[in-house]
Amino acid sequence: MNIHEYQAKQLFEKFGVATPKGIVASTAEEAGKAAREIGGPGLVVKAQVHAGGRGKGTFKNGFKGGVHVVDTPEQAEDIAGKMLGQTLVTHQTGPEGKLVSKVLIAKAVDITKEYYFAILFDRGSSSHAIIASTEGGMNIEEVAEKTPEKIFKEFVNPALGLQSYQCRKIAASLGLRGPLANQATKLFTALWNLYLKSDCSLVEINPLAITTDNQVVALDAKFNFDDNALYRQKDVVAMRDTTEEDPREVAASEFGLNYIGLDGNIACLVNGAGLAMSTMDIIKFHGGEPANFLDVGGGATKEQVTAAFKIILGDPNVKGILVNIFGGIMDCNIIATGIIAAAQEVSLGIPLVVRLEGNNVEAGKATLAASGLAITSASDLTDAAQKIVAAVKAA
Ligand code: GDP
Ligand code: MG
Repeated sequence: MNIHEYQAKQLFEKFGVATPKGIVASTAEEAGKAAREIGGPGLVVKAQVHAGGRGKGTFKNGFKGGVHVVDTPEQAEDIAGKMLGQTLVTHQTGPEGKLVSKVLIAKAVDITKEYYFAILFDRGSSSHAIIASTEGGMNIEEVAEKTPEKIFKEFVNPALGLQSYQCRKIAASLGLRGPLANQATKLFTALWNLYLKSDCSLVEINPLAITTDNQVVALDAKFNFDDNALYRQKDVVAMRDTTEEDPREVAASEFGLNYIGLDGNIACLVNGAGLAMSTMDIIKFHGGEPANFLDVGGGATKEQVTAAFKIILGDPNVKGILVNIFGGIMDCNIIATGIIAAAQEVSLGIPLVVRLEGNNVEAGKATLAASGLAITSASDLTDAAQKIVAAVKAA
C-alpha cells in the first residue's frame, strides 16, 4: 500500500523527522487560505498523486510541472487552481497520467544541496538496507547505473536496529560534518523508528535537503507499507486512497484475493502463488501473455472464486481464461461450482480452459461437464497452456 506525500509528512511530524510545515488543500480557495496561514514569501505548491517525477511532469492541458516554488499566497492559490482537477503525466504515471484532486502547500526552503536517502527491506541480505546518495533530486535508478560510486549502502541487522555509528558513517559518506552530521543522525534515527513502527517496506526521501540556514530537512516522501502488516496499522489503512489504485486490485483486496493486473490477454485463476507464477511462465513459454497474476489462496470459498471470475472478466483486454487448480486444501468441486456461478452471471463469451487436479477432482470435473458451458478441460499444465494460447490466437 502507498500513501500521498502530505500523509507521509504527517507521519514525519509524528515521528520527529524534520520537514517544512505544510497543509493539504482540495480547492484553490483552500490552497490560498493554507498559503496565507503558512505565510510567504516562499511557498511550494505540490500536486498529490501516487507517483514521483512530478517536478518534471506535464499536465495533459500543457501546463508544466507538478511542483512549483512561488513567492506569495496569491500565486500559490493561482498555481493550485491550475493543477487541481487536471491530469498530471510523469515518467511514473504511464501515458494515462493521474488526476490531481489535492495539492500540498508547504513553506519553501532555500536549498544548498539535495541528497537521496531511503530505508527498505532487502530480502537478499535478510536485513534492512539504507541507501544514500549525494545525487539527490535525481532519478536514483539512473544514478545507480551511471555513477554507482555515488551510492552508499548500509545494512541494518533486524535484531539490532539502526546503530548510531551507522548513522554517522552514512552522514560522513555524504560529506556532512559537525552540526549537519548531528542533525542528519537525528533525522535518520527518527525515520528508522517510523519505518519500523509503521511496518513500512520502503521510506524514501528524495530530496533530503540542506538549507541555506544549515537545516537538514525532508522535502519529499515516498512510502510503501507491508500489506501483510496492515491488520495492525489502522492509522495507515485510514490513509489509503483507493482512487489511486488499479480498480481491479481494489476489488480483489475486498475479497481477500491476491491479484495483480498485467498487460496481456490471457487471464489466470490459480490457487497458490507458486503455481500462479508457474502458470504465467508456461503461458509465456507457449507464446501467450498473461493478463494478471491471481492467487485465490489455498482455502477459497465459492464467493471468492465468483468474485475472482468477475474481476477477470471485467478487464476488456482479457480474451481467454486459464483456470489452473491443484486441490490440496482446496476442494476442486468448490472451484467448479464457483466457475459455473460466475460464468452464468456474466454470460461468458471467451474461451475457458480448466485444469483441475487433486482433492475431489472427479466431482469437480463432473460438475463442469454437467453445466453445459463451453469449457475446454486440460490434462496437465502444458496441455492447458497450449490450449488457451491456441484458442486466444484463433479467436
Ligand atoms: P518529485 O518531482 O515528484 O520527486 O517531487 P519533489 O518533492 O522531489 O520536488 C521536485 C523538486 O522540487 C525537488 O527536487 C526540489 O528541487 C524542488 N523543491 C521541492 N520543494 C522545494 C522547496 O521547498 N524549495 C525549493 N527551492 N525547491 C523545492
Ligand atoms: Mg522527489
